[in-house]
Amino acid sequence: MPDFEAVLNALPLGVVLARRDTVVVFRNRAATAVVGLRHVDLLVEAAVDRLIRQTIEGGAARTETMELFGPPPRVLVLSSVEMVDGVYLVVIEDISERSRIDAVRTDFVANISHELKTPVGALSILAEAMQDETDASVIKHLALQIMKEAHRMSETIDDLLELSKIELDAPLRHNDIDLVALVREAAERHARSALAADVRIETDVPDGQFVVTGDHTQLLSAISNLIDNAVKYSEGGDTVTVRLSREPGLIVIVVEDEGIGIPQPDIDRIFERFYRVDRARGRSTGGTGLGLSIVRHIVANHGGEVNVRSQEGEGSSFRLVLPVQIGDTR
Ligand code: ADP
Repeated sequence: MPDFEAVLNALPLGVVLARRDTVVVFRNRAATAVVGLRHVDLLVEAAVDRLIRQTIEGGAARTETMELFGPPPRVLVLSSVEMVDGVYLVVIEDISERSRIDAVRTDFVANISHELKTPVGALSILAEAMQDETDASVIKHLALQIMKEAHRMSETIDDLLELSKIELDAPLRHNDIDLVALVREAAERHARSALAADVRIETDVPDGQFVVTGDHTQLLSAISNLIDNAVKYSEGGDTVTVRLSREPGLIVIVVEDEGIGIPQPDIDRIFERFYRVDRARGRSTGGTGLGLSIVRHIVANHGGEVNVRSQEGEGSSFRLVLPVQIGDTR
């Protein structure tokens, strides 16, 4: 004969049994844990009480969703039903994680829609203006604007595709990556835009080998994104420096600039998808708001870390730490 109490205690669901007068006769471990939470216990107990009363009155099963603002915020679903004559069962399910993921997904879809709708709106206005235009120079100007908006949109789509590919946790290609060559390749990619912005890119690489196991495409994309930002948010005459150094079992890559910097209140959020410090600023520099979330994912895929230090008006320094071997952080 199974020990039912042990079975109930092993459940991730809270189970409460109560009498008709709402006196609780049994609570499994998960229910005790929920009720035992500070400030939550009274609210949950009141809800259990309420549900049992409603079930007694209405004779049917009842459900109630409770949003507790925390911290940490939690969402509980309570359902009650009469089990046998005079004994009521209340099940408490903690759906906090599911709700959080749902909210992130909804947010993400809303953001994508917004990010794509804006350039589409601009394209349609520009095309409309072009329709009635006879002046060749104005037509040329409008066509240029259309090209810019289309380019912007395709950048957003490219970034989204890259992000989803990385997030899918596609098996990484574990090759030996020479970071010296990789940093040079990434810097080379931005040589033209840096020249146009009058920004110098310097690499500071000490002698010796800087090899990690990882995925060439992903690591190139991460460093390239950091250099891209460093150049984008610099001013004419500034220097961007990419530095490599070694710590036991780790390689550190620092991308440093002397640009506009990041305000302290925004610093914790810049790695979020679509987050831009200042949307107007992002627009003029053509950013998608996805670059740093791509960087963060790539670094996580490699078992590393990325963090940032910045001072407004003085510059930013992004520090990327990679284990020499994936999963090896000695
Ligand atoms: P974006 O495509 O807008 O550059 P990112 O995800 O790469 O998006 O960066 C998010 C935001 O963080 C940027 O919009 C910008 O405001 C800020 N940011 C990132 N890197 C830098 C930097 N080197 N200097 C100043 N601000 C930066």
